[in-house]
Amino acid sequence: MDTDNIVAGIKKRNPHQPTFYQAVAEVLDSIKPVLDKDGQYKEHKIIERLVEPDRIISFKVTWQDDDGEIHVNRGYRVQMNSALGPYKGGLRYDPSVNQDILKFLAFEQTFKNALTGIPLGSGKGGSDFNPKGKSDDEIMRFCQSFMSELYRYIGPDVDVPAGDIGVGSREIGYLFGAYKKLKNEFSGVLTGKGVNWGGSLIRTEATGYGLIFFALNMLAEQNESLKGKKCLVSGAGNVAQYAIEKIIQEGSMPVTVSDSDGFIYDDESINEEKLEFIKRLKNEQRGRIKEYADEFSSGEYTEVDGNSDSNPLWDIEADCAFPCATQNEVQEKDARHLVDHGIQLIAEGANMPLTPEALEVIRNADVLYAPGKATNAGGVAISGLEMTQNKMGVYWSRDRVSSELQEIMREIHEKCIEAASEYDLGTDYLAGANIAGFKKVAQSMIAQGV
Ligand code: GLU
Repeated sequence: MDTDNIVAGIKKRNPHQPTFYQAVAEVLDSIKPVLDKDGQYKEHKIIERLVEPDRIISFKVTWQDDDGEIHVNRGYRVQMNSALGPYKGGLRYDPSVNQDILKFLAFEQTFKNALTGIPLGSGKGGSDFNPKGKSDDEIMRFCQSFMSELYRYIGPDVDVPAGDIGVGSREIGYLFGAYKKLKNEFSGVLTGKGVNWGGSLIRTEATGYGLIFFALNMLAEQNESLKGKKCLVSGAGNVAQYAIEKIIQEGSMPVTVSDSDGFIYDDESINEEKLEFIKRLKNEQRGRIKEYADEFSSGEYTEVDGNSDSNPLWDIEADCAFPCATQNEVQEKDARHLVDHGIQLIAEGANMPLTPEALEVIRNADVLYAPGKATNAGGVAISGLEMTQNKMGVYWSRDRVSSELQEIMREIHEKCIEAASEYDLGTDYLAGANIAGFKKVAQSMIAQGV
């Protein structure tokens, strides 16, 4: 099948959506052996159907700041694919949010959610609202206004949003409170809820812990472990925090943490005490990561220009890299630095953190690499288990959810390896993840008719 032609068609139909094309091109490239071998996907126009969201809802979000000034933002929900279950995926509040970014994320979510083995369709949403520097009251008013539109389109069996960048437990609380009032319904309509009011234990930790569980599986496959390894982590949000926590528990050394202004390099390693500081700083004080250097003399702060073609964080010699900040954060030069310094493993905490050029550098080098749609699937997987607990009206223990998470990540790893080896692709985790996710969704779409 001529995948270049398909991408050209998608470009024509969806002008100015480079991030979405990037995600689509990467998937099409790696599922080519499947499309070439089995004509049914072409016959059923599966690619054309997969890239077109079921619907995109776009709405106005009007809110008042603490001085009474009125602001207008845009809100969205992309309901991407419902072949496997209700639409499921996070909400992102960030000035970069637009249809391009949300379609890319919703597209990735289709494969990721399929890999979890839980009945979940895919979606993504959010707003171009910038939560930085806003008061708690402003955040609450924004969330209430956002939900006053979104509530019409979601429901526990329809579409179940969760958090993402800029949407954490505080925002989920305000969104849930608003939905409950509008619908007079207490249900599992959102995940990532507080553990006192329907949330699941381990949901907060799940993405970061799951990432490291996946990396441990990758290393075990090579008869290796994480013990004593020096690890680069970018980001300082939920994913990075719990990835760092698990790296410490594994007896390894996380040496970096970052935000959009710069990064900290702590060559003595981040330990439990320093991680507690990061959690307090980011989750309660909502401060900037440079404050770490004022608190701990071992932490060296470097400011980073977001428009530069490289980030010196990736120029530090280490064994493993876990990009946990955002899409396209690792560029070609960064990838070269990582390879030159002999990086052994790269596992993605963020969604599509490598540019296509960086990905090519990594794939041509002797590096164990696995994509976010496999490695960061632990978050949405535990969201799926939160939905199950809500349906059953029960709370599962920490031990139960924790062992489920480990088992799910082990199974995703196995699915990637199996799918790749079916097409003689060795341990190509990127192809394995895309092929396994694609086949499950595509076959379900075919079974459900046109
Ligand atoms: N935003 C997360 C992701 O990218 C979690 C989604 C969810 O829990 O629904 O997978």
